[in-house]
Amino acid sequence: MLKKVIISAFAMCMIYAITTEQPANAAEPPNSLAAEVAELRSLASTITPQISNLHAREIATEFLGGTAISSQFLSDSNPPMFAVEMQTEDGAKYTLYVDAISATVAKMTIDAPPQVVPQAAPQAAPQPAPQAPPQPAAQETTFIWPVPGHYRISSGYGNRRNPFTGGTEFHRGIDIPAPTGTAVVAARSGWVTLSRWNGSGGYMVVISHGDGFISRYAHNSVLLVSAGQWVNQGDTIAQVGSTGMSTGPHLHFDMTLNGQHVSPLEQLGR
Ligand SMILES: [Zn+2]
Repeated sequence: MLKKVIISAFAMCMIYAITTEQPANAAEPPNSLAAEVAELRSLASTITPQISNLHAREIATEFLGGTAISSQFLSDSNPPMFAVEMQTEDGAKYTLYVDAISATVAKMTIDAPPQVVPQAAPQAAPQPAPQAPPQPAAQETTFIWPVPGHYRISSGYGNRRNPFTGGTEFHRGIDIPAPTGTAVVAARSGWVTLSRWNGSGGYMVVISHGDGFISRYAHNSVLLVSAGQWVNQGDTIAQVGSTGMSTGPHLHFDMTLNGQHVSPLEQLGR
């Protein structure tokens, strides 16, 4: 029985990537093994990652697409996170940080930009010098409305009836109806971390603002930016459409802060 408990505690520790090694303590009585197991179990329940390494890879793959190359539990991070190295079909490499508690992507970095297919141009046009991003100190901290001129919200943040399934779901963003082709702008400056077809989100753009905020723009008809690119606040990044799981032309706009969904309206000051 005790052996079983020890094995399962050890298995849990393996899953949670914490070590069972304890500093040798000669002062402890020999019957402290059960107590130690209990302590380990309670330690595991304190950390409580809801997910395993494998699950972290699945979450990262669902978020970004492409292939998970490696994943690692960062036991020192707070909250505990998995760092998942990903590669997308266009050759770009990313590290996605998956919050082990909330099982969401908290942030992502671009490790290698997408590989650009060389153009068969007869004469090489002069390449513009790579534009250095503004210093974080100069970056604005507030968000602007992502569809200028269109301020109606057809579906807000919170529980709603799913238009496809009829079931109740938590709507993680706001839906802003606008005609197909209407400009979608960056709500705040940042790095474009994704700009491509993304399943139910249709043609989608994701911008990482560098301080834990990520904004996402879904269902576009046209994408005007690429992953790896810096965009300034107000830059047109896409055009409104109805791609993916959508019932009509609108922008689905949502935001996360450190991996947690937050109400976009609060951030937009509305
Ligand atoms: Zn939506």
